[in-house]
Amino acid sequence: MELSDIDGIATPCYVCEESLLERNLKILDRVQKESGAKIIVALKGFALPAVFPLIRKYLHGCAASGLHEAMLADEEMGGEVHTYSPAFKEKEIDAIAAISSHIVFNSPAQLQRYGLHVKTVNPNISVSLRINPECSTSPTDLYNPCAAFSRLGTTIKQFDPTLLHHLDGLNFHALCEADVQALERVLEAFEEKFGSFLDSMKYVNFGGGHHITKKGYDIDRLIHVINDFKSRHHNIEVYLEPGEAVGWQTGFLVTTVLDIVDNGMKIAILDSSAEAHMPDTLIMPYRADVRGAALPGEKPYTYRLAGNTCLAGDIMGDYAFDTPLHRGDTIIFEDQIHYTFVKNTTFNGIQLPSIALIDRNKKLHIIKNFGYQNYKNRLS
Ligand SMILES: *Cc1c(COP(=O)(O)O)cnc(C)c1O
Repeated sequence: MELSDIDGIATPCYVCEESLLERNLKILDRVQKESGAKIIVALKGFALPAVFPLIRKYLHGCAASGLHEAMLADEEMGGEVHTYSPAFKEKEIDAIAAISSHIVFNSPAQLQRYGLHVKTVNPNISVSLRINPECSTSPTDLYNPCAAFSRLGTTIKQFDPTLLHHLDGLNFHALCEADVQALERVLEAFEEKFGSFLDSMKYVNFGGGHHITKKGYDIDRLIHVINDFKSRHHNIEVYLEPGEAVGWQTGFLVTTVLDIVDNGMKIAILDSSAEAHMPDTLIMPYRADVRGAALPGEKPYTYRLAGNTCLAGDIMGDYAFDTPLHRGDTIIFEDQIHYTFVKNTTFNGIQLPSIALIDRNKKLHIIKNFGYQNYKNRLS
């Protein structure tokens, strides 16, 4: 995508490129075809209904976290809907059961409470339990479901084998931006603890966090690991439910320089916000790539890029450019599609970025604009 193609676009704006998304989907489809695993997209990380028809050409459906994501999956994606929640609410369980093909309970207590009931609402629903394999591989505890005192999933100590007859499958989700070696470690821990219960299971869901579409990921090894697992367990069905790997490097966030101040260094204030629009850059944290920019000092003109909110730490980072920045210049943050518009906020009353799509013919479509009403409606 050349800069000229997005000239004149109202900023801030997330721009998803369909051709890049399809490239990811084709990689995931190869995994499906060569391993027999089924892949569904985790809406938590990437939910853009405008591209659901494209996703459905390749993937089997959605992993939903609760009622609202399940409704979106049911209404806009179709296919399988696997709904998991750390705890389901009594008043939502019937609606969830009615539209889910699979439901995943987090604890033996939840399974006991709702396991039989959901089958009376939806006789075809598959029921599983989320396991905590107690094998930590995540880069940070914020994203580590196997950290000490984790509420996510059932440990072998908490597991109650008398509940096995309720179960069609088992789930685990223990990875974050992980390579296949991390999956192998988790799988070993999972099989060591729960392997003996797999004979009666129809499927195992390996969760998300597989960085399959990242350059350098060993896709052949993943296919081998899945096939190997299936051969050990009566050809049990395997699911993967990545979010990030679907939206990985499929687009960018376009922003505009509003002002430049100098307080010991030059600081460019943008019409966007790290806190509100690119939250993982502060939370993970990580440094987003900026198109045409380098590390501070690597090019002649270094600026701190910062958000237009009153939060002192609303800073994207320090970046060096070939030429001086000016008010009105466009700044493009790369890879801002997954875990951005699904979790952005109107903090400080800041404008939510629009959402746009570049189709396969390189034509740009604005999908959605946001304004004052979106801020006000959340509060009143
Ligand atoms: C977050 C999550 C996913 C998706 O994880 P990614 O890192 O985006 O691939 C899948 N399953 C569960 C249960 C999750 O919580």
